[in-house]
Amino acid sequence: MTSRRRATRPTPSGKSRPRVVIVGAGFAGLAAAQHLDGRYDVTVIDRSPWFEWLPNIHELLSGVKRPADLRLPRARLVKRAGHRFVRAEVVRIDAPARVVVTSRGRRLPFDTCIVAVGGVDETFGVPGADRHAMPFKSVDDCAEIGRRLAALANRRGKRSVVIVGGGFEGIEALGEILRRYGDRQGMTVSLVEAGPRLMPGSPLAIDRAIRRHSARHDVRCITGTRVTKVTPTRVHVEGRKPLHSDLTIWTGGVKAPPLLRESGLVDREGQWAPVTQALRSKRFDNVFVIGDAAGLPHPLGKQAYYALQMGVCAAGNVERTLAGRRLRDFRPSAKGMLVAFGALDTFLIAGRSVIASPALAAAKEAVFQVTMAQLDPPLGGDALRSAARRFVGTARRRLLSP
Ligand SMILES: Cc1cc2nc3c(=O)[nH]c(=O)nc-3n(C[C@H](O)[C@H](O)[C@H](O)COP(=O)(O)OP(=O)(O)OC[C@H]3O[C@@H](n4cnc5c(N)ncnc54)[C@H](O)[C@@H]3O)c2cc1C
Repeated sequence: MTSRRRATRPTPSGKSRPRVVIVGAGFAGLAAAQHLDGRYDVTVIDRSPWFEWLPNIHELLSGVKRPADLRLPRARLVKRAGHRFVRAEVVRIDAPARVVVTSRGRRLPFDTCIVAVGGVDETFGVPGADRHAMPFKSVDDCAEIGRRLAALANRRGKRSVVIVGGGFEGIEALGEILRRYGDRQGMTVSLVEAGPRLMPGSPLAIDRAIRRHSARHDVRCITGTRVTKVTPTRVHVEGRKPLHSDLTIWTGGVKAPPLLRESGLVDREGQWAPVTQALRSKRFDNVFVIGDAAGLPHPLGKQAYYALQMGVCAAGNVERTLAGRRLRDFRPSAKGMLVAFGALDTFLIAGRSVIASPALAAAKEAVFQVTMAQLDPPLGGDALRSAARRFVGTARRRLLSP
């Protein structure tokens, strides 16, 4: 929390404490909430009661993580920051009227709104993808994939899993399947990527390393190939016979949520909300857009650590805007990205450089444990118990996993 205590100007609503509504309490929204202090009347809204640590949800496929390891109760985190949490689905942010509207018709007034709604699954309009492929975007999604994989692995005969998308989500999914089921006879995994190589845009060394590891298992990595249709038992691809699939996992990336269009923050569906470098909406002065939802002048990767940094910056700029001061530009500080490939390898990608070693898995785990503890400091009671369970449970399951 900030320690500076400057006076705020009279609020547009005339209230003594300026009202700030934060829509979305993922990485960006929570960071913003934790950096606004008691001078503001802050309401944080999210449709789900749980904050979820998405960068490790692939570990639910192998059972190395359990859903409880990856979740924190939003109400506790927001209350500890001194604010109010409202669980609701937001259907419109009416910036000219300075009000956020929920699906149940509740209207939450604001002087400044921070929009931190992330993205939604991108299926590129592929027929059947929404219905017949499993999404890979939440703890529930990945826990369900984990259950289906376990059931499939226990069946006799030939079984096929198809992963659509060879970006970091698809690679991490494949790694966890191999960690747990890599030695099962008759279980084939195919990974289909439209780009020319695995992890498009990353150093070629990663593509080579994954193919080398995969060659020891019943895995097909198919690149330069688009998926055209998904049915309950087939994945249709360009220029090849359809792939049989008992379980299709969709990891096609993210696109902007419809709420941005419905709130007039963008001109067309699917566009990220244009913001200035200070994260203020280019459409409305009383709105900041942060995290994955923000369309920055110089686009950045949709990454959790940028979302956290944007949350901190936006909190500062809300203070500045309400005190009538000049806003500060967001200056991203790039960090390397850690991509796990099950127990076989972990890659640290920094620009065009990559370091690969199974030992780097410990670094990914450390980022998870430390940041979860920062978000929910284990100072006693429930937070301490859940931190201990997270740490001991993961360590035990990692050591015991085949
Ligand atoms: C499988 C996977 C793996 C990833 N791995 C990594 C990684 O290794 N490293 C990394 O840096 N990043 C990783 N990312 C990306 C990272 O998770 C995102 O960049 C980050 O979550 C973005 O944060 P955010 O706060 O903008 O959005 P989110 O974390 O998506 O939060 C948005 C919140 O808004 C809420 N919301 C949305 N719409 C509404 C509405 N209408 N009403 C109420 N609430 C709403 C949602 O419930 C959600 O809680 C990964 C993402 C995925 C899916």
